[in-house]
Amino acid sequence: MSTTLSSSRTVSSIVGGHPAADAPGGRETSTNPADTSDVVADVLLGDASTFVAACEAARAAQREWAAVPAPVRGRAIQQLGRLVEDNKEALSRLVTREIGKPYAESLGEVQEIVDTCNFFLGEGRRLYGQTVPSEMPDKQLFTFRTPVGVAAIITAGNFPVAVPAWYLVPALLCGNAAVWKPAEYAPAVSEAFAQLFLHAGFPDGVFNLVLADGPQTFAGLEQTLERRLVDKVGFTGSSAVGAQIGALCGRNLQSPCLELGGKNPLVVMHDADLDLAVEGALFSGFGTSGQRCTSLGTVIVDERVHDEFLARFEAAVKGAAIGDPTQDVLYGPMIHERFLRRFEDDWLGLVRDHHAVHGSSATGRITAASPRDGFVGEDPERGLFVHPTIVSGVRVDDDLANTETFGPLVGVAKFGDWEEAMALANGHGYGLSASIYTTNPKHAFRYREQISAGMVSVNNSTSGAEAHLPFGGNGKSGNGSRQSGIWVLDQFTRWQALNWDYAGRLQKAQMDVADIDADLDFRLED
Ligand code: NAD
Repeated sequence: MSTTLSSSRTVSSIVGGHPAADAPGGRETSTNPADTSDVVADVLLGDASTFVAACEAARAAQREWAAVPAPVRGRAIQQLGRLVEDNKEALSRLVTREIGKPYAESLGEVQEIVDTCNFFLGEGRRLYGQTVPSEMPDKQLFTFRTPVGVAAIITAGNFPVAVPAWYLVPALLCGNAAVWKPAEYAPAVSEAFAQLFLHAGFPDGVFNLVLADGPQTFAGLEQTLERRLVDKVGFTGSSAVGAQIGALCGRNLQSPCLELGGKNPLVVMHDADLDLAVEGALFSGFGTSGQRCTSLGTVIVDERVHDEFLARFEAAVKGAAIGDPTQDVLYGPMIHERFLRRFEDDWLGLVRDHHAVHGSSATGRITAASPRDGFVGEDPERGLFVHPTIVSGVRVDDDLANTETFGPLVGVAKFGDWEEAMALANGHGYGLSASIYTTNPKHAFRYREQISAGMVSVNNSTSGAEAHLPFGGNGKSGNGSRQSGIWVLDQFTRWQALNWDYAGRLQKAQMDVADIDADLDFRLED
């Protein structure tokens, strides 16, 4: 394996600008999933009290930050973007080393932060409100966007910096203070990203980092919501945890931003360009080892082209380069042992007798006894590598058609008519991303109208987002909130309405409004 072992670092929570020296949540190590003997970081974990202290620090700093003019806050975002751009390679290398994402994808992930900063630095000069005409003379109506206050952001680690940036950048730009709780399995990347925030000029306490496990985070969140220390929760992760956080927020009369799992369909019509569809299915099914929220779940293929599509897809997957993520591969290792275990124990266990398995010489972990032809790297057993798996013969009521299988596993189902295709595409209840390959605009627009997903692609894969287009899902994929672009502003600001009456007397809305005389009996002569 060509991975050069770099030194490990010690990382901890950062509250009010100060790194924590203790580890009330215990100590852990973070290892490189492509070579588990490579220790990336020693981690000092915080606990619920760390989370509470971070929210208190954020609360103490927020008002002063909100008083900084928005264009000046935009300058801090600009500086963050510059720092990220100037540290792009170093941060990308760390992403690859800690979560095993192929380096080219890591560069793309870090670029997404730069794009997000570029979008929001300008928003500091907009954050538009409106002037609205009043029903009465000598009275003006206005709307203002006001910051929500303290935002607690809890994120998954498969996009360890891009997805957090989608929350943190607009939250800070809008005048909020933030507490970020990243995934346990990406602490070194998170701490490095936090350092860039701290060097970008945000005052102490405006940005805080908490490294803690899920249960401690939940306990901290419960306390801070009850004490009204948190005004907005942003959560990206599994649908199961999202439901718990949604319930907790609901009890505290808060509407969180929930971005959850997906079972993303890709429909191949009989008139599709099959090679293009195969390329899209390969990238979205197996890129990042299938560990994206937008990873392809099931390819749903018109029966007239099913066998031809499957043959081409199988050939592409069999020939794909898999292995060392520092090299040119389709995918590297599973991000962490927990994802490897669930893939082997749970997701591969959904394959039934009526299914057929394709795509590699075996399923499960790649080892000396279960090798993968053309594996890129020296010894697959040093990392958490698994074979790619295509499962054909998937039916609408299969567990495999209805469960998010986080890993390199793609189902293939056949349809006879449109209704059958839509039942497969929508029946699972998720609604994040969906794609259709067709050369007929009628199919494309009918799909857009009937698919439950928040994001739809035509002749493009299910994966891939741009920093200025709304990102988010419906159903089991989220509560309808949207990130990115102007849409996320509604998560991190609240509309305030102002009316200003300078008539010098009390004018009552609806009651003191002038009328317009009209002759409503008037009719045109024939
Ligand atoms: P997860 O739900 O286990 O964890 C996500 C985060 O929540 C982590 O920081 C974790 O420590 C924390 N957490 C866990 N339990 C908690 C609890 N009870 N209270 C508070 N916080 C808790 O998710 P994961 O397995 O790390 O990530 C994979 C999942 O995330 C997949 O389902 C994937 O589709 C989803 N995801 C969604 C998006 C999106 O934008 N929709 C993006 C990336 C990942």
